Amino acid sequence: MGDIRSRGLNALLLAALKAHRDCTEGAPADYIPALAQVNPELFALALCTPDGVVHAVGDADHPFSIQSISKVLTLALVLRESGADLVIERVGVNPTGRRFNSIEAVEENCGRDLNPLVNAGAIATVGLVEGTAAEVWAKIAATHAGFAGRALPVDEAIFASEMEANGRNRAVAHLMRSYGAFARDADEAVELYTRQCAQLVTVRDLAMIAGTLAMRGRNPATGVQMLAPTDVTGVLAVMTSAGLYEDSGEWLFRLGLPAKSGVGGGLIVVAPGRMGMAAFSPRLDAAGASVRGMRALTDVAQALGANLFV
Ligand code: GLU
Repeated sequence: MGDIRSRGLNALLLAALKAHRDCTEGAPADYIPALAQVNPELFALALCTPDGVVHAVGDADHPFSIQSISKVLTLALVLRESGADLVIERVGVNPTGRRFNSIEAVEENCGRDLNPLVNAGAIATVGLVEGTAAEVWAKIAATHAGFAGRALPVDEAIFASEMEANGRNRAVAHLMRSYGAFARDADEAVELYTRQCAQLVTVRDLAMIAGTLAMRGRNPATGVQMLAPTDVTGVLAVMTSAGLYEDSGEWLFRLGLPAKSGVGGGLIVVAPGRMGMAAFSPRLDAAGASVRGMRALTDVAQALGANLFV
């Protein structure tokens, strides 16, 4: 029985992979020089079931940087450590409708009423983790390891490349700090944020992360409760309204599920209570989401009848 189901899921993933394999729309991120060198043909899909089994097809063992999907996990860390009120008050939980690295969104709202999934809000969220820089990094790394089910290495070349090119994130961090969003040194917050974005994952890791969110915060493979179910709903709410930046509304219309993109080409989609899904394909649309990843996972979700609004 399990075997039949497992073969069915693999076949479904394979069909979605094949259906979108030849699509060459979009382009890999090039504002971070190291990301521009990634092979754009790489393509992988994965799905994590409630029993913690990960089904994966395509280039499923190819490592890539997690980028903005890490924002979800540091939000989880701050919710666990300090509670939802701090996040709502200092960062906000509303979609900005702006690009992910918008300075205008910060200025318009005097550093408030953003969300933890745009760069400004994510850097502020990192800035809210308590402790020395070394302690903060240890907590961030442990949180990611707990969700993924294994320790994630940092790609030092990607980290260095983004540190060279992230003047905009530094500007946003200083603005956020000047508006009182967080007290940590702004450059230190940017460095911690950039390091978390440079952690390497495979599509299997992302499926496990999505699966942990789908299973009310309990990693379905290790059994470790990473986040209280009452905080998981908050994380999924922000992913639903802001996980795909300015395109969040359109994807909510099409996909009907919480999702988060990363400019490394990674993507997670969560079907609460049912499964976690993930994709990897480096060509991005204008909002910074994987083109083939979004399309393929929309097919998979539809085929499985997974939609919050059904
Ligand atoms: N590290 C990237 C940045 O700060 C993350 C953006 C993304 O993945 O959407 O620009």
